[in-house]
Amino acid sequence: MRLNSQDIHTRFRRHAVRVTRQRAAIYQALAETTSHPTANELYQTVKRQHPMISRNTVYYTLGVLRQAGLVQEVNVGHEVARFDGNVTVHHHLICLGCSQIVDVMDEALNQLAVSDGQARGFRILGHRVEFHGYCAGCQRAKLDAPQRSRQEH
Ligand SMILES: [Zn+2]
Ligand SMILES: [Zn+2]
Repeated sequence: MRLNSQDIHTRFRRHAVRVTRQRAAIYQALAETTSHPTANELYQTVKRQHPMISRNTVYYTLGVLRQAGLVQEVNVGHEVARFDGNVTVHHHLICLGCSQIVDVMDEALNQLAVSDGQARGFRILGHRVEFHGYCAGCQRAKLDAPQRSRQEH
């Protein structure tokens, strides 16, 4: 989604975040991708247009934006945190081979609920479903690998 600076200012104001040029650039880069980048990947992207930006600024800003509810953190197993600029309710397909994360928008999943008996007094604020497996590319690579080694013999 292409965001103009007016959109960014409005969102920041709504979440009580002070706007700086660098913060806006970091948020924009994250909001415009669906790749769920790591903080370092985001730094590499933003640096292309803002060569003076520091890695620390990107990490710190991600923390500020996360606390404000403008971005969310996605943790996949023991890997480094990935970030998502889409904070609307959605779910994820996670590839165990290449670690890609793909968004799933599904109204039925949004409606999932825990029965009162299982909730054990929790006041539930939300949920996110993760599907783990192998993407099409990784499945193909797995199928190709044994064939290639057979051809070599
Ligand atoms: Zn994959
Ligand atoms: Zn997502």
